[in-house]
Amino acid sequence: MTATTAPQRTNLLGMTRQEMEAFFLSIGEKKFRAAQVMKWIHHEGCDDFAAMTNLSKALRQRLGETAEVRGPSVVYEGTSSDGTRKWVIEVENGSYVEMVLIPADNGKRRTLCVSSQVGCSLDCSFCSTGKQGFQRNLTSAEIIGQVWVASRSAGARRDSSQRPVTNVVMMGMGEPLMNYDNVVPAMKLMLDDNGYGLSKRRVTLSTSGVVPMLDRLGDELDVSLAISLHAANDTLRSELVPLNRKYNIQTLLDACRRYLDKSDSARMVTIEYTVIKDVNDQQQHAIELAEVLKDLPCKINLIPFNPFPHSGYETPSRNQVMRFQRWLDELGHTAPIRSTRGDDIDAACGQLVGRVKDRTRRHERYIQSIQLDAD
Ligand code: SAH
Ligand code: SF4
Repeated sequence: MTATTAPQRTNLLGMTRQEMEAFFLSIGEKKFRAAQVMKWIHHEGCDDFAAMTNLSKALRQRLGETAEVRGPSVVYEGTSSDGTRKWVIEVENGSYVEMVLIPADNGKRRTLCVSSQVGCSLDCSFCSTGKQGFQRNLTSAEIIGQVWVASRSAGARRDSSQRPVTNVVMMGMGEPLMNYDNVVPAMKLMLDDNGYGLSKRRVTLSTSGVVPMLDRLGDELDVSLAISLHAANDTLRSELVPLNRKYNIQTLLDACRRYLDKSDSARMVTIEYTVIKDVNDQQQHAIELAEVLKDLPCKINLIPFNPFPHSGYETPSRNQVMRFQRWLDELGHTAPIRSTRGDDIDAACGQLVGRVKDRTRRHERYIQSIQLDAD
């Protein structure tokens, strides 16, 4: 007897509008079905074709047999005292990814921090994700699936003023520009009216500087851009961000200018600067930073280093970070300090550990440990 395997169903979750239209045409249906189904999936958080009542019964049945809406499964969900919500999702092959939804402006803004890879290959010396090494790229369904999960569990609504996720930052695990082919479709869905309908200003890609892909991104999408700079001289930056040996600071800043030139909406770049004790927190560093940024329309965000075991780095004192901020201010740059972990899980966004599954560890212990973390 030969074993038969069930035919694989097509997962519609990560499909852009174009891909979805092509899918419906390929099964002999009209193109407009794509918009209908996308609204069910992304506006309503629906994963059951039977509930898609504006489709004919026959189509619903057919979709049920050949397609699916498969999001990542949530293994942990919690809310911290300041209202920050945190999820851990399991993606295929037993990897875990964390997501945080951070409220601001009296709840008017709800920013979701999204991951693009499990681990990261770029090995920045101060980043716990980098220290885990690279496991794999997330698929577009797994990337948009994070927005889908967060919207759904916060109560997806049709009314855009009530949407549970108002902003997305690609600042979770991984380097989005190293997973370009999956990140771009997912970001298109964030912007699409039949997807999450977010304005370009409210969707931000953060990169440590994969220059050729940044140029490509500028040709294809017009989202807000954040650059992980962390140092304003090449010697130090190459130590912190090894990718700098390939694309140095000037090459990267030139690419930022090209990006802004192509953009209709992004008028400035956000420069992320993780402040590390005795490494990049001295007055000389502030002077260098202001100097390299003088011809780039930008705003600087200061992120006090989030410590993790065996990093070899320390967090500067609050006073030192404020001194650094003052030096920048005197040089004409207003640089807000992003609150850190310990205050709460806010900056977990910059340090999503994402715990790649340790196969020798029991699942229960894992879940228990993350629950303790979020308390
Ligand atoms: N790979 C992308 C996006 C993910 S990292 C990038 O590097 O931009 C998101 C942000 O968190 C980056 O600015 C990163 O430099 C910062 N970050 C990483 N580890 C950190 C740590 N331990 N403390 C503070 N910020 C950190
Ligand atoms: Fe990767 Fe960004 Fe971490 Fe660098 S900072 S290792 S690019 S996730």
